[in-house]
Amino acid sequence: MSKLRFHVVEDAFKKKAVNVQLPKERPSEYYGSLVFNRAKMFKYLPEKTYQQLVNSIDNGAPLGREVADAVAAGMKKWALEMGVTHYTHWFHPLTEGTAEKHDAFVEHDGKGGMIEEFSGKLLIQQEPDASSFPNGGIRNTFEARGYSAWDPSSPAFIVGDTLCIPTIFIAYTGESLDYKAPLIKALEAVNKSATAVCNYFNPEVKKVVAYLGWEQEYFLVDEGLYAARPDLLLTGRTLMGHESSKNQQLEDHYFGAIPTRVAAFMQDLEIESLKLGIPVKTRHNEVAPNQFELAPIYEECNLANDHNLLLMSLMRKIARAHGFRVLLHEKPFKGVNGSGKHNNWSLGTDTGILLMGPGKNTTANLRFVTFVVNVLKAVYDHNALLKASISSATNAHRLGANEAPPAIISSFLGSQLSQVLDHLINSKPEDFNLAGKQGLKLDIGQIPELLIDNTDRNRTSPFAFTGNRFEFRAVGSSANCASAMLALNAAVAHQLAKFKEEVDAKIAAGTEKFAAILEVIRKDAQACKAIIFDGNGYSDEWKKEAMARGLDCETSVPVIFDAYLTESSIKMFEATGVMTEKELIARNEVKWEMYTKKIQIEARVLGDLAMNHIIPMATKYQSSLIDNVYKMKDLFPGDKAQLLSSKNIEIIEDIANRTIFIKEKVDAMVEARKVANKIECERSKAIAYHDQIVPMLEEIRYHIDKLELVVDDQMWTLPKYRELLFIR
Ligand code: ADP
Ligand code: MG
Repeated sequence: MSKLRFHVVEDAFKKKAVNVQLPKERPSEYYGSLVFNRAKMFKYLPEKTYQQLVNSIDNGAPLGREVADAVAAGMKKWALEMGVTHYTHWFHPLTEGTAEKHDAFVEHDGKGGMIEEFSGKLLIQQEPDASSFPNGGIRNTFEARGYSAWDPSSPAFIVGDTLCIPTIFIAYTGESLDYKAPLIKALEAVNKSATAVCNYFNPEVKKVVAYLGWEQEYFLVDEGLYAARPDLLLTGRTLMGHESSKNQQLEDHYFGAIPTRVAAFMQDLEIESLKLGIPVKTRHNEVAPNQFELAPIYEECNLANDHNLLLMSLMRKIARAHGFRVLLHEKPFKGVNGSGKHNNWSLGTDTGILLMGPGKNTTANLRFVTFVVNVLKAVYDHNALLKASISSATNAHRLGANEAPPAIISSFLGSQLSQVLDHLINSKPEDFNLAGKQGLKLDIGQIPELLIDNTDRNRTSPFAFTGNRFEFRAVGSSANCASAMLALNAAVAHQLAKFKEEVDAKIAAGTEKFAAILEVIRKDAQACKAIIFDGNGYSDEWKKEAMARGLDCETSVPVIFDAYLTESSIKMFEATGVMTEKELIARNEVKWEMYTKKIQIEARVLGDLAMNHIIPMATKYQSSLIDNVYKMKDLFPGDKAQLLSSKNIEIIEDIANRTIFIKEKVDAMVEARKVANKIECERSKAIAYHDQIVPMLEEIRYHIDKLELVVDDQMWTLPKYRELLFIR
C-alpha cells in the first residue's frame, strides 16, 4: 500500500491536460443542441400541440392524453434522429442526487419482431421500482408503488444514448417522495400570492416567477490519489489527515491562473453544459487550493434546479475523463475552506420587473420595500425552518466553522437599505399621510441612487441582500437546492398572502391603498427587526446576541430537523398547499435516517482505517525505532546509549500511547454504535449518533493526525493533504 501512495503521486505529476475537442460551431449555435427546447418543439410538434404545450409550460394549463401522445411522438422523432435508443424518467429522490431507470424504446410488434415505441402514456407516467427509495414509511415496501410523472415545465434532454424526461416522484397515495413536486407547488404558491400583492402596484401583472442563480463550489482531486484514500472514496471527505504546512494562507490560489489540467476540465464541462442548455457563465479558482467555482446565468427556479442537478452529474462524469474526481462534499478537508452553493434568489414579473430591485419612481420603490419587508418577515418567522432546509450531516462541518455562514439565520441588508428600513420603522404614522401623489415622505424615491454602490458584501451573512436579489449562502455544495428553495418560496408565499389579507382589511375599512400598505410593512418591519444583522456573523458576540434576539441557535442537525414539524411550519406548508403534515413527518424520518447512515459509514471507515492502516504502520515504524535503541546499546556504553536514544524512546512511548488510545476509542465507538442501532425511533437514533459517535470521530482523528507527524513519511500509506491539495 505504501508503494501505491508513491506510485499515484508520481503518476499524478506526470499527467498532462486532456486535449479538449472544441465544437466547430459557436457556443450560441450549439447551446441547447441536446435539449427538446421550444425551437425543437416548434419543429417536431403539430402547430396545435405546440401551442397547447407552451400554454401548459407558461400558464400551467392541464395537458390531456392526446396532447401527451402528440408530444411523445414528436420527442421520439427528434430523439431517434439524434441516435437515441433509450429513454428514462429522471427524478430527484430524497436521497439527494438524481435517479433514472433506462428503458429501450423497443416494444414487441405483436408479429414476433420489435418496433420503436414511445407513447404519451410512457411519457406521462412510469412506475419505477420505488421500494429502494426512501419514503419515511409512506409506502410499505410490499406495496412498493410510486409513480414518476412528467414535468412539462422542464424540457427533456439527451445524455449519451438516453432521452431524459424530468419527472416528479409521488406515492400511489399522492404524497410526494421527491424534491421536485413540493418545489413546483411552492413556486406556484409564491406566484399566486406575489402576483396578488404586485397587483396593488401593477395591475397588469399576471404572473410572478421565482428565479434561482446558484454558484457551485467544488474540489478536484487527482483520480489516483483519490483511489488511494478509502475515506474519500467511501465518504466523500477525508476522515484524517494533518494540515499541510502550506495551506491557503497566501491566497495565491484564488488569484492565480487556473491550472492547465483543470482548465481543460472546465472547458469540457462548459461545452457539455451549454449543449444541455445550462447557461454557464463564470468559472474561477476558489479560496482553498484545488477548489473551484462555476456559476450559470440565473433561470426560473425549477429549471435552474434541474440544471444544477444535471451539472453535478456531468461534473462527476467529465472529471473522470480528465483523470480527476470531483468532490462535492461541503468539507472534504479539515482546516481548509469548505464548499457551498450560494442560491441567488429573486422574484420577477411576466412584465419584466425584478421585485427585489429598487425602481425608478416612488411607487416602484414602495413596491420594492414591500417585497423586501415581506421576505424578511418570512425569513424571520421561519428562520429555524430555513436552517433545517440547508442542514445535513455533511453541511454541518461547514456551517458554524469560521469560513462559512454561521448556524444562525440572519439577513444582511447593507447600510443603505438598513437605513431605509430604520426610517420606515421610526417614522410616525402621520409621516405616511399621502398628500396627493407626491405624498410619500419616506425618501424611498432616493433608493436607486443610494443602492448603486451597495457592493460591500458581508461574506459572513447566510442570507444577504445583494442589490436586486437575496443570496442564500448557507446552502451546501452537495445539496439539492430544491430543499432550500421550496422552504423559502413557500414561506414567502405564506407571508405575502397574510400581508395581502391585512392590507385588504384596511382598505375595506376605508384606508387609502398605499397608506394601508405602508402601515402594514411598517408593523412587519418592526416585528422582524431581529433578523437584520450587518455585523460579523462569525463572532462569538453574535451568537450571544442572536440568542438574546430569539433567533434559532440550535447546532445539532437531528434536532434542527424538528423545525419542520413545529406548528408554524406545518401551518405554513399546509396553507400554501406545498406539503401536508403526513408528508412532513415522513420526510423527517428520511432525514434522520440519512443522517444516521452517513455518520455510521464514516465511523466504520475510520475504524477500519485506524485498525488496518494507521496502527500497523505506526507499529512498524515504532519497531524500527526499538530496533535502533537496542543496537545503540550494543554500540555505546550504557549511559551514553541511554542519552543518545532518549528522543527515540520518547517517540516509541508516544506512538504506544496514541495507538492504545485509538484502539480503545475504536472499540468504544463500535460499542456505542451497537447501543445506538438498537434505538427504534429514527430521531433518537440520529441524536445518539450526533451526540456519541461524532465526537469520537474527532478524538480518534486527533491522534491519527499526530501520528502522521512522527511516522516515517516513507512508511505512511495514505496520500497526505499536501499531495491531495496541491497536485493537479
Ligand atoms: P458573485 O459575485 O456572488 O459571484 P455573480 O454576479 O457571479 O455574483 O452572480 C451570482 C449568481 O447570481 C449568477 O448565477 C447570477 O446569474 C445570479 N443573479 C444575478 N442577478 C440575479 C437575480 N436578480 N435573481 C437571481 N439570481 C441572480
Ligand atoms: Mg455569490
